[in-house]
Order: sequence, then structure tokens, then C-alpha cells
Amino acid sequence: MSDNIQNDSRIEKILHLIMEFASGNLEAKEKQSNHYDELDGIIGGLNMLGEELHASTVTRDFLNNILKTMLDGLIITDSSLSIKEVNPAIEGLLGYEARDLEGKSIEKIFKGHMTLLEHLPEEIIEKEYFAGVETTCLSRDNSEIPVSVSISFMRSHDDQVDNFIFIIHDITESKRREAELRVAAVTFETHDGILITDANARIIRVNKAFQNITGYSSAEVLGKNPNYISSGRHDKAFYEEMWRHLAQKGSWTGEIWNRRKNGEVYPEWMSITGIKDDDQKIVQYVAIFSDITARKIAEEEIRSLAFYDALTGLPNRRLLADRFHIALSQSGRSKNYGAVMFLDLDKFKSLNDTRGHEYGDLLLIEVAQRISASVREMDTVARIGGDEFVILIEEVSADQKMALQKIAAVAEKIRLVLNEPYKLKEFNCYSSPSIGVCLYCGNEKSSSDLLKSADMALYQAKESGRNTIRFFDPLMQEEVESHAAMEINLRNAVENNQLRLHYQIQIDRDGRPVGAEALIRWYEPLHGIIMPLEFIHIAEESSLILVIGEWVIQEACRQIAAWSKDEKKKCMTLAVNVSARQFALPDFVHIIASAINLYKIDPSRLKLELTEHILINNISNAVAKMHELKALGVELSIDDFGTGYSSLSYLKQLPISQLKIDQSFVRDITTDANDAMMVKTIIALGQNFHLHVIAEGVETKEQQTFLIQNGCMASQGFLFGKPVPIDEFDLLFDKMDN
Ligand code: C2E
Ligand code: MG
Ligand code: MG
Repeated sequence: MSDNIQNDSRIEKILHLIMEFASGNLEAKEKQSNHYDELDGIIGGLNMLGEELHASTVTRDFLNNILKTMLDGLIITDSSLSIKEVNPAIEGLLGYEARDLEGKSIEKIFKGHMTLLEHLPEEIIEKEYFAGVETTCLSRDNSEIPVSVSISFMRSHDDQVDNFIFIIHDITESKRREAELRVAAVTFETHDGILITDANARIIRVNKAFQNITGYSSAEVLGKNPNYISSGRHDKAFYEEMWRHLAQKGSWTGEIWNRRKNGEVYPEWMSITGIKDDDQKIVQYVAIFSDITARKIAEEEIRSLAFYDALTGLPNRRLLADRFHIALSQSGRSKNYGAVMFLDLDKFKSLNDTRGHEYGDLLLIEVAQRISASVREMDTVARIGGDEFVILIEEVSADQKMALQKIAAVAEKIRLVLNEPYKLKEFNCYSSPSIGVCLYCGNEKSSSDLLKSADMALYQAKESGRNTIRFFDPLMQEEVESHAAMEINLRNAVENNQLRLHYQIQIDRDGRPVGAEALIRWYEPLHGIIMPLEFIHIAEESSLILVIGEWVIQEACRQIAAWSKDEKKKCMTLAVNVSARQFALPDFVHIIASAINLYKIDPSRLKLELTEHILINNISNAVAKMHELKALGVELSIDDFGTGYSSLSYLKQLPISQLKIDQSFVRDITTDANDAMMVKTIIALGQNFHLHVIAEGVETKEQQTFLIQNGCMASQGFLFGKPVPIDEFDLLFDKMDN
């Protein structure tokens, strides 16, 4: 530094300015100078120097040292703003060496950028100095450098202003940070919700979007845990997994359901990031989320477009394929039969052609509704094209015959319901379907093969005159047809006197006849005697069982009345089988009472054999009805005991007088230890409940001996006699009674 500045008071002046500038005193005097805090390092050093300065005599060397060590640039000009001196920091700041500037106007540096130069020197003299004015300097390579400038002046001995001192502080870095902060501030207020918590997951800041999305104001959530807004939709494991992921990976992204202040639960797409300090310890969590309700709705719409038929709302071919696939694997596990039906409307095209597509569409919508209403919730009704529907009936039965009949019944139900008249706006019309059916069991056959088979069956249905149902498997078709034929024939059986009761004798421990069971037979003119197992279930599927059941009761009561006149037989009881459907009739008790009255019999001679099935649907109703029957004086027996849903808790509620051990246990009584134990248990159970116990299906002497030894009171079976017509029964009775 040259010797231009000579006296100590001037040096002091410069130092004073440096001190003022650096220490922040100026802050109070001048508007804004937020970059001071960045000068902390310098301030510390200068403060010390300052104190020293006041304490000791200021020397030229001392000033030079300070000017050299200063990080800020310092320029001293004369009164006409011509540069006299610069410190070394100027070179670092502007790229000029001292000699490039000395003698040049200060404007070289502030060229065009420093309006305050215009006010110099008058204003500055008046104000003493400017401090922390932000502007830009031009560096040697012509780049603009943001700076904060403080200017002061010095007076000569004659009190004239003769020097200006410029201290130039580079504020590039603080400007950059300011800009960054501005960006951050703007970013924080985006349309995504932002929530910041401390390391303990306490909310410390939320943005406006958070408040808009959740409905909570910032004040309402500050200090709270984010679970304050959780929906309760996710379980503990979900959050544990989220935190585990956060701890391991430092961030988590996913869909999460939260609850708005108004209670509404909504989906968010959220990413959470842990903010770490220098020690890699998490100090904050930032969660950024967007409300994806709209997206979800859109997704749902897209999904429904992809999987559902737009006109009818039914599943389309794709969803059908999906469900079919699942149904087949399910059947593979359960071994239950199911079926796929291919349905096509007869002459649909002509409606479309004559009335236009609008009416065609209305018909399809109505058809879709009618089919859907005819099947169970779990079944699938799909529309796979024009007037083509596919119906998937799942998990019907493990028994093929039973499954076939049930499926045939569903197909028939659909056929009938689609034959009902339609009202399409003002237009009344009729329609009918053709239906092809293919059964499946297990997953050996592919869904497309099964569909093809159903389609072929549909073709046959069309071929055979439409409005019909055809099964793919010819044997099944035959079976369904004979079943249908049997139902028709059975309808006439009662009127045509084709039903007969056979009687199977029941004997006590001493081999004396004590009663009989009435077992129905159908004397069919073409097929001969048909056994109840072949037709009772057909009767049960329709209301025929009610007619048949009533006939059986009448016939049994008539027989009891006949026996009552026979000295030897008047103590005999006659057991009658009652189907669950028949028992469920509201006037069942009345039917029994009427028959008893009509034939004037002792009600205790009539024994109703009920199975546990009657209890399945409405146990309290069934129990009440049993009490009514008991009140009439009839005896009640539980048939096929041990095969059903027996539970001791219900058994004690029932007003029964007899348990009938099922023949399946009796069959292997002498060879199978389990069956033997079962029979012993039932007998003991009966004794404890004071019930009469009878065994059915007794075929051998050994079985009878076992039963007697174990306390069974009565037996029925081929060993004593098969079910036979009444005249044969009378012969047998006479033989046994002697
Ligand atoms: P159930 O009531 O358990 O009748 C016993 C069945 O076992 C009868 O078959 C009978 O013939 C047969 N049986 C009797 N003793 C022996 C034996 O020692 N060995 C073998 N292997 N079998 C024996 P059926 O007559 O074919 O009747 C079958 C089922 O049909 C009956 O089972 C009953 O549930 C039902 N049923 C029969 N008649 C009627 C009726 O009038 N109404 C109703 N609702 N169901 C009836
Ligand atoms: Mg029976
Ligand atoms: Mg039985």
C-alpha cells in the first residue's frame, strides 16, 4: 500500500469504517444488510483488532496488515472518485491488480450500476456514509458480481472532503442462497401436501396444500403425530413395514389412506424421506403427498371399462376368463361340480332389425337382470358379445347326479324367466333363449375347452328347435331328460294310484314284532317298482313331495286304524318318513292332526321319522313344531342318527322318544372298532336321555347279538324281513308272532 495516507487519524477513520461495516452496527442505521451474519469470521478477528486499535497507537503497518487480511475489497479514491489505493482482496474479487485501477475512475468498477455514485459526494457527506448498499461490480472479465458496498469519506486538514473509502463485500453466495430459499419457499407451497416432522414424528410444519387436502389448519396439527390424520384402514403391520423401510432405505413411497377433518377417508400417494444431519442421524422427516382420489376414480372407471360390459354392467369376456380360471382351481381342490352355460337369445336379430338397436339394447339389459336374479351371488353372469351370455355356476355338489339335477334346474329356471313377457318402453314382446351346458369337475379341462363344449351344446339346442337346454355330454343329456320325464310321470303317480307303501318289520330284544316302518314304492307301469331313493329327491325339488307326503301319512294312518282292530297288532307302532321340505310346511301339524282324526287312531301308534336336516335352517321353529306334534300325542324318532349334525346341546331340547342308529354304523359293527364304538355310544346316549334306541340295517345274527349285548332295545333289517307289501307283511308277522 502506498504512502498516500499519512496521518493516524485517517488510518483510524478507515479502521473505524471497517469496524462499523463488519460489526453490524450499521444495521440499525441502514435498512437491510442480511449478509452480515456471513461475516462472522471476519467480525471476530476485526473486533479484536478494533479493541487493540483503541488501546494502542495506530500505525501504518497495522493498517496495512488489516487491509491485507481483510476478505472484503477496499478502495480509496480522491474527492473526484479517482482510485488512489486498493487492497489485495480487490484482486480476488474483481480480478484487477492495484496498478490496473490506480488513477482510474471508480466508475470503471461500478460502471452503469451504481446510481449512488450520482449522489456522491454531496449526499454522502451529509449522511456520513452509505452502508450495505447492494449493487453489482464489473470485474475485469466484464462479469457482474453482486456486492454490498459501504462508502465513507475523509476530510483534509482544511475540512475538505478529500478521500472516499469503498468497502466492497462479495454477496454472490448469499444471493445464491437467497435464490435457493426463494425456490424452496415456492416449492414448499406447491399443490402437493407437505408435512415435516421432527425425529420423534411430531409435526413441525405443514404447507397450504396440506391444509387444503386434509382440512386441518397448521395450528391444529403442529406438535401432533401424523397418525392424527390416519384413516384406520391400515393395520399395525402396514405402518411397521413403512417405518422399517424408512429406517433401512431412508425413504418410503406408497399409497396410504388418510382421513380428512370432515371424516372422509381418501387415498394419497406419499413419499417420505428422512433428513439426516452430518452424523447421519435422522433429524426430520419430510412427507410429500398428493390426493389421488380422482386418479382412483379414473382407475376404477378404466378397470370397469376393461372388465365389464358397458351396456349391461355384467362382467365381460376378460373378467369371465379370470373368474373361470379361479373357479376351476377351486373345483380342483373341493372336487365339487360346477357348470358353464352358453346362452343365446332366439331371433334376437329380428328385434334389432325391426325395432332398431335401441330396443335391442333394452332387451339385453332386461335379460341381463333376469339372468342375474336367477343365480346365486357367487355365480358369474357375463355378456361376451351381441346376445351371447355365459353363466358360470360354481361349487354345486360333489355328487355328479345331484349337481347335474341342480344345474339343470337352474338352466330351466333361466329359460323360464326369459320366456316371461318383456315391456320395452311402450313395446310389449316375447323372447326365449337357447342354452348349452357343460359340467366340469376339477381343473383338468381348460376353461376355453369347456366354453367350446358349452357352445357346441348351444348349437344343438338351436338345432333342436330353440328355446331349449342341451347338455354337452350325451349321457348327461339323457339323464336330465329321464329326470324330467320322471317328474312328469310322478305327477300322475298319485292320481293314478301307482304309489304303494311297503312295510318293514321291527322287533324287540326278544324277537317279537313291535312295529313297522312304512317305506314308499312307486309301481311304475313301464319300469316296474321304483325305489324311493330314485324319486323322492325329484319330488323334493318340486312341490310334489307335499302331495306324496300327505298321501303317505293318510295311508299309514289308515293302516294303523286297520291294525287297531286286530288284537295282535293293535299295539304295533308304524314309523313314517317325513322329508325336511314336508316338515317345513306351515300346516304340517294340521295335516297330521287331520289324518289322526279322520282315521280315529291312537296317535301314539304313529311315529314320525325326522332327520337332522329339519333342524338346519330354523332350529327354534323346528323345535316348536316338534313340541306341537308331541302335544298331539305322536311319537318322534330321529332317523339315520349319527350321520347328521347331531350335537348334544340340541338333542336335549328335542321332544323325541327314539333314536334310530343309521345302518352305515350297523353294517360293520362286528369288524370295525370305530363303528362298534359309535353304536355303543349312541346306545349309551339314548339310555342317558331315556330314549328308545332302535338299530336299522341289521342283516346278520352277529350284528343282532352285538346290539342286544350292548343294550339296544329294538332292531330292523333284512335279518327279520325286507320291506314288503301289506299282505306279505301279515304273513311274516304271523310267523314271527308265534
Ligand atoms: P330310511 O328311512 O333310512 O329307510 C331305511 C332304508 O334302508 C330303506 O330303504 C330300507 O329298505 C333299507 N333297509 C332296511 N333294512 C335293511 C338292511 O338290512 N340292509 C340294507 N342294505 N338296507 C336295509 P328304502 O326303502 O330304499 O328307502 C330309502 C330311503 O327313502 C329311506 O331311508 C327314507 O329316507 C326314504 N323314504 C322311504 N319312504 C319314504 C317316504 O314315504 N317319505 C319320505 N319322505 N321318504 C321316504
Ligand atoms: Mg326311515
Ligand atoms: Mg334310516
